[in-house]
Parts: sequence; C-alpha cells; structure tokens
Amino acid sequence: METIAAIATPVGHGAVSVIRVSGEDAFEVVDRIWRGRQRVMEIPARMATLGKIYDRHSNLIDEVLLTRFVGRASYTGENTVEISGHGGVLVTQRLLEALVEAGAKLAGPGEFSQRAFLNGKLDLTQAEAVMDLITAQTDLALRAAHQQLQGKLGAEVAALQDGILGVLAHIEAYIDFPDEDIDPDTQAVLSGKVEGLVAQTGRLLATQERGRILREGLRLVFVGAPNVGKSSLLNVLLGFDRAIVSEVAGTTRDTVEEVVSLGGVPVRLIDTAGLRESVDAIEHAGIARTGAALASADLVVELLDASRSPDEQSRVDVAKTVKHHLVVLNKTDLKVHQGWDGVDDVDVRISCLEEGGVEPLIEAIQHEVTTSAAELDATPVAINTRHRGCLQTVAAELETAGELMHDGEPVEFIAEHLRAALNAAGEVIGKLDAEDVLGRIFSSFCIGK
Ligand code: GDP
Repeated sequence: METIAAIATPVGHGAVSVIRVSGEDAFEVVDRIWRGRQRVMEIPARMATLGKIYDRHSNLIDEVLLTRFVGRASYTGENTVEISGHGGVLVTQRLLEALVEAGAKLAGPGEFSQRAFLNGKLDLTQAEAVMDLITAQTDLALRAAHQQLQGKLGAEVAALQDGILGVLAHIEAYIDFPDEDIDPDTQAVLSGKVEGLVAQTGRLLATQERGRILREGLRLVFVGAPNVGKSSLLNVLLGFDRAIVSEVAGTTRDTVEEVVSLGGVPVRLIDTAGLRESVDAIEHAGIARTGAALASADLVVELLDASRSPDEQSRVDVAKTVKHHLVVLNKTDLKVHQGWDGVDDVDVRISCLEEGGVEPLIEAIQHEVTTSAAELDATPVAINTRHRGCLQTVAAELETAGELMHDGEPVEFIAEHLRAALNAAGEVIGKLDAEDVLGRIFSSFCIGK
C-alpha cells in the first residue's frame, strides 16, 4: 500500500512530537531525508536510533530519534517508521513536508488503524477500542477499552458466529440433498441451538447501556426554577472533583455539559438552561430540549429554594421518566421558609454559597453512581451503538430462522436468514469469510453418505 505519513502527537509546543510513516516503501521514503550512521533499512528493528533529517536543499530540519518496525511486527502490519523530533509546531510541520516531498502521502483520519484492520492486525471492535482508549475519561472506561482492545468482544462475537455457522452448516447439508427432510429430532436440536443463539445475542445487546455510560457518561440532569442555584451547584461539583476530565459542548446551545469522574464512573453534568426561561417551562415539559434531557437522564437532581415557600415553587414530575431522582433544597444559609418543615421528600439540604451539605449530596450522587459502578465492572464487554445495530439484525434474523424452522419451511429459506445473521455478526468485527461456511460443511459433515 502507498506510504502514508502523519503527525501522531497533538500539535503544539512540547518536549517531543512523533511522526508516523507507514507503507511498503516507508523505509526508502524516510531514508531519502535521513542522515545517520546506518541507512534506515539497516537500522535494527525497534531500536531507537539518533540521526538527522534534512530537507531537499540540504538544510537541517531536526535531530531525531528514529524507530523502525518491520512488516507484521508493527501497529499497521506494514513497514513503519516512527520519528521522534523536537516538539515544536514549525519543526514538526517541516518534517512532515520533507516526508511528503520524499514520496509519502498525508494520512487521512484513522488511516493507520484502518490499515491495521485491513492487514488483519485488529478486528473492527479492536480498532474502535483504540478510539475508546484515547477518549476514555475514567479508569473504568479505560479498563473497558483495554478489554475490548484485547479482543474480548471480538471473541464473544466470534463464538456467536461459530454457533450460527454450526446450525447453517447442518442446514446447508440438507440443501445439497433436496430429497431429504430434516428429521424431527435434528430439527428440535437445531431449534434449541437457534434459541440459545438468540439468548446469546440478547446478552451482548444488554451491555449497550454499560457501553453508553462508559463512553458518554452517566447523565445527571439538574432541574429547577430560574435562580434556584443550578449553575452554582454545577460549579461546586466541578470544583469539588479535582479530577475534572473534560469540558464538552452541550448537545444544544442551551445546555451546559461537563464530565466529571465520580467513583470511577464518568458523570455528565447537564444544566438545562432551557428551564431558566420561565417557571412555566418546567410545567410545560413539552419544551423539547428539557423533555429530552429529562427523558435521557440517568439521574435527575431537582433543586428547590429553601428561602421561598414550597407552594411558590413548581415541582417537576420526573418520577415517571427516570429511575433515580434526588430532591435537593438549596440556599439553606438563608432563612429557611417554615413551609419546608412539613415537606418530607427532600433528600439533601445544601448551601451552594457556603458549600454546606455538599459532601452529603456528593455521597448521595455517588450512592446512585456506585451501584452502577459495580454493575459496570461486572460485565467484560460493552457494545457501542454500531455493534447494537448489527446485533439487532442478528437477533431478528435468528428469530425468523427459528420460526421458519418451527413451521417446517424449506431449508433454503431458513439458510437465507441464518446467512443474514452471520453477515450481521461479521459486520461487528468486520470480517466474514464465505470460505468458513464451505470449510465447515466439508470438515464436519460426511457429504458422501
Ligand atoms: P440558576 O439560575 O438555577 O442556575 O441559579 P444560579 O446558580 O445562577 O444562582 C442564582 C442566584 O442564587 C445567584 O445570585 C447565586 O449566587 C445565588 N445562590 C446560589 N446558591 C445559593 C445559596 O446556597 N445561598 C445563597 N444565599 N444564594 C445562592
């Protein structure tokens, strides 16, 4: 494949920046601009070697460390060179330009991983895990990404494919001998197998929730009337948790979202600024974004103002939409309205101003969250939305195949749906080998019977 090059480290001022070059001619391309004791192709593999890079006018660009990876023994599965230069914007850019002049092509986004996939170094789930690993925001998410990178999900899907192949191979054998019907005993066994495969797919599908929380964060939505202290609380929580991991743009201009790590679980704090417009907005939860934020929330923190009468404050009926709901009375540093004495559904009393009661609130949030943390840690795989799409097809096709089998429909029809299921499972890991089917038929069945 054509030789590609890209800056692999973020652009900016740093101690080191790395440029990656990959392709059949990677060594020759780099050698054109390299001056060292040995030529690039003579440098021992995986041995960082000092040398200099020059432009075509023989001007020195940088003194660098070069590491060479030969063929399969690289990330991409093809000849690769990693050049570690000084971490400056201009010097790194010049290095890249020199490589392009020497014959490399600028790599597109993800092209190194794509090559790793095409060269069979990674399956699709592993390639995706590389991205998960890079974007992981908590230890738990990191661990899940590592498991996927090691091929745990790939192995589960491969087992599923194997099961489907087993049934398909059986069925295909009957297609080759149209005069024979599947005998009832075999049919019962095969039906049982298909049922088992549907359940197996269902178990994988059930990990989607875990995957969503690990990748996107548990959604904690703040609701409450304007000026009740939602933004203040958001800031207090951000300040409390020193491990602020990132700021993310809100899904709409009207929501502010930040991700923090609470007990290892990424928690996305969502301030529904839409609720500021008017108190009515709370009652008319029909306002799309507020409704959507609530509907997608894993945990709702409803804020109320202690200094005002409970009767003056609209309450949000979140009970119907979410599992977890904390009622928080804010501004308890002010004179607490006596009306609150008789209200018994307040979970925590706080003051954002004096940061009083914030610890118990965080504990309450963590309590909700740690239940999930234990759940999150319990399963070794966590599928993403793309996997879900493929696996839903697998389940649907398997179910259809099972029904046709049950109704005694012709084996060709059954086989068609099993093949569709197999294809969809193959899409998860990105490979499907038609030879597999043939191989299985010939190896495990005595066709000449
Ligand atoms: P939001 O509209 O719900 O986001 O409310 P803000 O966080 O912007 O707060 C509205 C006003 O209430 C601001 O002037 C805050 O300083 C004040 N405020 C927030 N929390 C407290 C608190 O615990 N005690 C007091 N006394 N004032 C607070």
